[in-house]
Amino acid sequence: MDTKDPAQRENNPVYSHTDNSEVNLTDDQWKKILPRNVFDIARNKGTERPWTSPFESSNEIGTYYCAVCGNPLFRSDTKFESGCGWPSFYEPISKGSIIYAADHSYGMDRTEVMCGRCKSHLGHVFNDGPAPTGLRYCINGVVLDFEKAQEAEKKYNEGKK
Ligand SMILES: [Zn+2]
Repeated sequence: MDTKDPAQRENNPVYSHTDNSEVNLTDDQWKKILPRNVFDIARNKGTERPWTSPFESSNEIGTYYCAVCGNPLFRSDTKFESGCGWPSFYEPISKGSIIYAADHSYGMDRTEVMCGRCKSHLGHVFNDGPAPTGLRYCINGVVLDFEKAQEAEKKYNEGKK
């Protein structure tokens, strides 16, 4: 279920699933690299309308990456149906894959989550999630890329025979 046109990454020199060196570009640079809808959320801390992301209800097995820089963020087995309208996860792939900041906008006390590599805005984290973490990472689907775990799936299917 890859909703992104691969060509979008041709103009993106920092996009990588393996390079974890920090990315620091200006908003003007990002504007030239990113599709408009990704830029609005990632760099202007926007929020997509609820129930608009195909990832919200997706059960496919694989890895979710930052759509801005390709940093691995979440595994599909930590995704759960939160009913909030945005893709929700209870745990990031690693400690460093996400960074946190207090967000007091709109009169609310929330914790913003950003990509640990490029500091793009991803969404927020709340403490009403399921075990084992009790956390709910509420993430804009627009800033996620998904890659299906083809190898893992093949092995699983072979094991069933
Ligand atoms: Zn990123």
